[in-house]
Amino acid sequence: MNLKTIISKTSRKHQLLVPIAAMTLGALVLLVVLVVFLVNRFDNTAIAREQSMVESGFAQQMRQLNEIVVPQVDWDKAVAKVDRTMDVDFADLDFGNQLFTFDGFTHSFFVDGDGKVTYAYIRGHHAPFDSFAPFRPIVRQLLVPIREAEARRGPIHPHAQGKGPITRPIQADSFARVDGQVYVVMASLIQPDLGLVQPKGPRAAVSINAIPVDKTMLAPFAARYLLDDLKLVASAQAVTGRAALALRARDGTVVAALSWIPRQPGAALLQRMVMPLICAMAMLALAGWMIVRRSAVVVDELLASEMRARHLAYHDTLTLLPNRALLFDRLRTLLSSLSSRHPLLGMMCIDLDRFKEVNDTLGHQAGDELLKVMADRLRSLARGEPGAFTARLGGDEFVLIALASDHEAVASLAQRCLAALLTPVDSEFGRLDVGCSIGVAVIDSSVREPSLALRQADLALYRAKARGRGCITFYEHEMETAFQTRRVLEQRLRHALEHGAFHMVYQPQVDRAGTVCAYEALLRWDDAELGTISPSTFIPLAEECGLILGIGEFVLRRVFAQTRDWRGVRVAINVSAIQMRAPGFATRLIQIAAGSGIDPAQYEIELTETALLTDSPATMENFAALKRLGFAIVLDDFGTGYSSLRLLHRFRVDKIKIDRSFVADLGQSSEAGTLVRAIVKLARSFHLGVIAEGVETEAQKALLIAAGCHEFQGYLTGRPTDFEVVSAVQQDRQARELRRA
Ligand code: C2E
Ligand code: CA
Ligand code: CA
Repeated sequence: MNLKTIISKTSRKHQLLVPIAAMTLGALVLLVVLVVFLVNRFDNTAIAREQSMVESGFAQQMRQLNEIVVPQVDWDKAVAKVDRTMDVDFADLDFGNQLFTFDGFTHSFFVDGDGKVTYAYIRGHHAPFDSFAPFRPIVRQLLVPIREAEARRGPIHPHAQGKGPITRPIQADSFARVDGQVYVVMASLIQPDLGLVQPKGPRAAVSINAIPVDKTMLAPFAARYLLDDLKLVASAQAVTGRAALALRARDGTVVAALSWIPRQPGAALLQRMVMPLICAMAMLALAGWMIVRRSAVVVDELLASEMRARHLAYHDTLTLLPNRALLFDRLRTLLSSLSSRHPLLGMMCIDLDRFKEVNDTLGHQAGDELLKVMADRLRSLARGEPGAFTARLGGDEFVLIALASDHEAVASLAQRCLAALLTPVDSEFGRLDVGCSIGVAVIDSSVREPSLALRQADLALYRAKARGRGCITFYEHEMETAFQTRRVLEQRLRHALEHGAFHMVYQPQVDRAGTVCAYEALLRWDDAELGTISPSTFIPLAEECGLILGIGEFVLRRVFAQTRDWRGVRVAINVSAIQMRAPGFATRLIQIAAGSGIDPAQYEIELTETALLTDSPATMENFAALKRLGFAIVLDDFGTGYSSLRLLHRFRVDKIKIDRSFVADLGQSSEAGTLVRAIVKLARSFHLGVIAEGVETEAQKALLIAAGCHEFQGYLTGRPTDFEVVSAVQQDRQARELRRA
């Protein structure tokens, strides 16, 4: 894993994990905010309720203070004694002294209808009248409602005996600050209670009484309402942790304020709940942490599987080498990074030579093992090269690219590559000896497209393989033309199949006496544009481009149709390895045979060794089906393959055909003679028929007879001949035989 992937992986992980962590943290913060909000709200409601309770309590206190003086001021006797006259003894006894001694009023005054002071008593003693002066402003305010109420009351009628008072008290009160002390100042109109004494006129005397708002007054109040630290303060301004109630003068100005520590049930509750709450939050945090941890693991797994998937998308699972997609990626980068130091890019397409044989004879496991070893060799070869890169394109095809300073560097790398892959592989399946073909393209800065670079190397590889095994071939421009030609050929071949441009010729096979015992059916293609093309050219092409199945079917139909009536001769039909490997091929052949009404015993199917060099179940089934139906099987080109003996054991063929390369060498090299003799012996020991192909001379024929081979096919005994000619010969022969019979 490189730094870039690690960084991108980490940032991806953050992208996924941060929201989860944030959500958990958010939930915690939300919980805290919610608790604080609820506690606050709870407390605020409690404080508001307490405040209104204190307010109404204090109003009640004021009412009670007013009520204290009611028996004195609503009293016939008071009207007689203090209104417009002043009986000081009476005033002392029933007002000044009494109210001070029993009720705590420190100041008692009387004012007459003109507002003049007629009596002054302060803290148990008579006082000079000007001691009233500080109270005058507030008293002036209080007298206004008193006088209005007095005027509204109207004249008083004497009361019937035994009934309650005839007047209702007329009073007003206010808070006031006098010489720094806050007082409740009350004004009460002197009125008759029973009406035995009538007021002496309007604007009766008014009793003014003041009581200080101090500890004496507040302590019992606080005790009654359970107020903590109740005290008087200058203003009702909010102080944290304290509640306040403004005490106002009549005109609304704030004189002072009551201040106390409010009860905060929410805070108290919170205090009690702090531990459980901390525990709950710790658990929530723990749960959050666990979720984040678990998520981290899940995210790690997800990222890992994503990386795996991406790796799979760009790598071959068997060899772990990069695949085509990654190769193109890398090629694009390399092509744009050619420099004066490395002006060239060596591009090598490598194809293992005998891989298919290993796969077919030793099984896929051996093939896989081989591919892995080869991949390792290429990997270590690439390690020392600048910008080197190895990839597997599929099957047994690899690519090696590297930057290079010149052509020689590329050629040397190709040589080392060939040498590395040529070394046999010792595996549990034995020694695997395959080698490779290499196509090399030397790319300069004029090539920008990865696909073009790969195509050049691929064309070179195609040529290398055509040349034979273990070849290194460099790309040349002419290959492009050859490739184009091949493409044209392929198109024409397709056209030929669709338009019936094929026909069959028949080459006789004879015995020692020269009697024709069979014909091999051979395909011919005369193209309107390209002329006559050899099957050695177009059959491999048809096999490569998948046309062989269609062509094969044409051959079967045509041969069965043409030869169905031939008597006394067999007909050999060539069947390609690709056809044999196609599932259902035998079934198709049987259908065609049935449709043509032929007798299978009259036909031989010629297969090359490569057709049988396989574990493919389809091939086995096809082979078995053909045998079951009575077709004879001939092993064509015998001796050129990989593992002949094993094949003879495995597949019960009926005949072998000695390859024409051995026949051609007969008389030239002694080795060929030995080989031919060995093949004939092998055939005899397996009780198989044997025929030699490519017999061109009498000498060859004599040597073959000496070796024990008694059937021949070749230019010496008959060239491939048009159907009409062979057919005429056949009819002639059949007619002669009929006559003889
Ligand atoms: P093959 O099956 O080995 O066919 C024998 C080839 O040797 C034929 O070439 C034939 O013309 C040639 N030949 C015959 N006698 C002599 C001789 O004395 N000397 C020399 N040098 N050659 C001789 P042809 O017809 O060009 O076919 C080439 C190959 O194409 C065949 O080799 C076979 O593999 C393939 N082929 C031909 N027809 C068919 C077909 O109908 N189906 C399939 N699948 N393959 C076919
Ligand atoms: Ca043949
Ligand atoms: Ca042959």
